[in-house]
Amino acid sequence: MLKYKPYVLALDLEGTLISNAVSQFSRPGLYNFLEYCHNNFCRIVIFTAVSELSFRKIAIALADAGKVPSWFVNLEYINWDGKYKDLCFVPETKFTEVILIDDREEYIKQEQKKQWIYIPGYEYPYPENDDELNQVIQKLSQID
Ligand SMILES: [Mg+2]
Repeated sequence: MLKYKPYVLALDLEGTLISNAVSQFSRPGLYNFLEYCHNNFCRIVIFTAVSELSFRKIAIALADAGKVPSWFVNLEYINWDGKYKDLCFVPETKFTEVILIDDREEYIKQEQKKQWIYIPGYEYPYPENDDELNQVIQKLSQID
Protein backbone atom coordinates (compact mmCIF):
# COMPACT_ATOMS: atom_id res chain seq x y z
CA MET A 1 0.00 0.00 0.00
CA LEU A 2 1.26 3.45 -0.85
CA LYS A 3 1.69 6.05 1.81
CA TYR A 4 2.10 9.46 0.24
CA LYS A 5 4.12 12.19 1.84
CA PRO A 6 1.91 15.19 2.73
CA TYR A 7 3.58 17.63 0.38
CA VAL A 8 3.29 18.94 -3.13
CA LEU A 9 6.61 18.28 -4.84
CA ALA A 10 7.70 21.11 -7.15
CA LEU A 11 10.49 20.33 -9.59
CA ASP A 12 12.70 22.78 -11.39
CA LEU A 13 13.69 21.73 -14.92
CA GLU A 14 16.93 23.33 -16.14
CA GLY A 15 20.01 22.41 -14.13
CA THR A 16 17.90 20.13 -11.93
CA LEU A 17 16.34 17.44 -14.17
CA ILE A 18 18.11 18.27 -17.43
CA SER A 19 21.09 20.34 -18.54
CA ASN A 20 19.12 23.18 -20.08
CA ALA A 21 16.30 23.81 -22.54
CA VAL A 22 18.71 23.99 -25.49
CA SER A 23 20.90 20.90 -25.07
CA GLN A 24 18.23 18.97 -23.08
CA PHE A 25 20.61 16.33 -21.68
CA SER A 26 18.81 14.26 -19.10
CA ARG A 27 20.52 14.01 -15.75
CA PRO A 28 21.74 10.53 -14.77
CA GLY A 29 19.11 8.72 -12.71
CA LEU A 30 16.27 10.91 -14.00
CA TYR A 31 13.79 8.14 -14.81
CA ASN A 32 14.31 6.45 -11.45
CA PHE A 33 14.07 9.78 -9.62
CA LEU A 34 10.76 10.64 -11.26
CA GLU A 35 9.33 7.21 -10.48
CA TYR A 36 10.37 7.65 -6.85
CA CYS A 37 8.57 11.01 -6.79
CA HIS A 38 5.50 9.50 -8.43
CA ASN A 39 5.38 6.66 -5.90
CA ASN A 40 5.80 8.90 -2.86
CA PHE A 41 3.99 12.16 -3.62
CA CYS A 42 0.39 12.40 -4.75
CA ARG A 43 0.99 15.74 -6.48
CA ILE A 44 4.05 16.74 -8.50
CA VAL A 45 4.34 20.02 -10.39
CA ILE A 46 6.95 21.54 -12.70
CA PHE A 47 8.15 24.97 -11.58
CA THR A 48 10.45 26.31 -14.28
CA ALA A 49 11.46 29.49 -16.05
CA VAL A 50 10.95 27.62 -19.34
CA SER A 51 7.60 28.36 -21.04
CA GLU A 52 4.89 25.73 -20.84
CA LEU A 53 5.02 25.11 -24.60
CA SER A 54 8.79 24.54 -24.46
CA PHE A 55 8.43 22.33 -21.42
CA ARG A 56 5.84 20.14 -23.16
CA LYS A 57 8.07 19.77 -26.23
CA ILE A 58 11.09 18.88 -24.10
CA ALA A 59 9.01 16.42 -22.07
CA ILE A 60 7.73 14.68 -25.20
CA ALA A 61 11.26 14.38 -26.59
CA LEU A 62 12.51 12.96 -23.27
CA ALA A 63 9.61 10.49 -23.11
CA ASP A 64 10.19 9.41 -26.72
CA ALA A 65 13.83 8.76 -25.82
CA GLY A 66 12.79 6.70 -22.78
CA LYS A 67 14.44 9.15 -20.40
CA VAL A 68 11.27 9.97 -18.43
CA PRO A 69 8.03 8.10 -17.65
CA SER A 70 5.12 8.90 -19.97
CA TRP A 71 3.20 10.76 -17.22
CA PHE A 72 5.93 13.41 -17.15
CA VAL A 73 4.54 14.83 -20.43
CA ASN A 74 1.27 15.79 -18.68
CA LEU A 75 2.80 17.15 -15.50
CA GLU A 76 1.02 20.10 -13.89
CA TYR A 77 2.78 23.31 -14.95
CA ILE A 78 3.00 26.25 -12.55
CA ASN A 79 2.37 29.68 -14.05
CA TRP A 80 4.36 32.36 -12.26
CA ASP A 81 6.13 35.64 -12.76
CA GLY A 82 8.44 37.97 -10.90
CA LYS A 83 11.87 37.53 -9.41
CA TYR A 84 11.22 34.53 -7.18
CA LYS A 85 9.66 31.12 -7.48
CA ASP A 86 7.17 32.08 -4.83
CA LEU A 87 5.58 28.82 -3.72
CA CYS A 88 2.30 30.69 -3.28
CA PHE A 89 1.96 30.39 -7.07
CA VAL A 90 1.19 26.70 -6.58
CA PRO A 91 -2.63 26.60 -6.62
CA GLU A 92 -4.84 25.07 -3.96
CA THR A 93 -2.21 24.57 -1.30
CA LYS A 94 -0.20 26.52 1.25
CA PHE A 95 3.44 27.30 0.57
CA THR A 96 4.34 25.36 3.72
CA GLU A 97 2.99 22.25 2.01
CA VAL A 98 5.25 22.57 -1.03
CA ILE A 99 8.80 21.26 -1.40
CA LEU A 100 10.84 22.74 -4.23
CA ILE A 101 13.85 20.98 -5.75
CA ASP A 102 15.99 23.64 -7.45
CA ASP A 103 19.62 24.37 -8.28
CA ARG A 104 19.39 28.17 -8.01
CA GLU A 105 19.26 29.93 -4.67
CA GLU A 106 18.46 33.29 -6.23
CA TYR A 107 14.94 32.09 -7.08
CA ILE A 108 14.12 31.15 -3.49
CA LYS A 109 12.24 33.56 -1.24
CA GLN A 110 14.03 34.06 2.05
CA GLU A 111 10.97 33.12 4.11
CA GLN A 112 10.47 29.95 2.05
CA LYS A 113 14.00 28.55 2.33
CA LYS A 114 12.81 25.77 4.62
CA GLN A 115 10.71 24.46 1.72
CA TRP A 116 13.71 24.23 -0.61
CA ILE A 117 16.00 21.29 -1.31
CA TYR A 118 19.14 22.38 -3.09
CA ILE A 119 20.60 20.29 -5.89
CA PRO A 120 23.87 21.30 -7.58
CA GLY A 121 23.32 22.34 -11.18
CA TYR A 122 23.82 19.73 -13.90
CA GLU A 123 26.39 21.48 -16.02
CA TYR A 124 29.19 20.97 -18.49
CA PRO A 125 30.85 18.50 -18.88
CA TYR A 126 27.63 16.71 -17.78
CA PRO A 127 29.30 13.87 -15.86
CA GLU A 128 27.74 10.45 -16.42
CA ASN A 129 28.44 9.52 -12.81
CA ASP A 130 26.43 12.46 -11.47
CA ASP A 131 24.57 11.09 -8.43
CA GLU A 132 22.71 14.18 -7.27
CA LEU A 133 19.19 12.94 -8.05
CA ASN A 134 19.86 9.90 -5.86
CA GLN A 135 21.07 12.25 -3.13
CA VAL A 136 17.76 14.11 -3.36
CA ILE A 137 15.87 10.79 -3.09
CA GLN A 138 17.74 10.19 0.17
CA LYS A 139 16.69 13.60 1.47
CA LEU A 140 13.08 13.13 0.41
CA SER A 141 12.93 9.68 1.98
CA GLN A 142 13.63 11.28 5.36
CA ILE A 143 10.52 13.45 5.11
CA ASP A 144 7.28 12.14 6.62
MG1 LIG B 1 17.42 25.48 -12.51
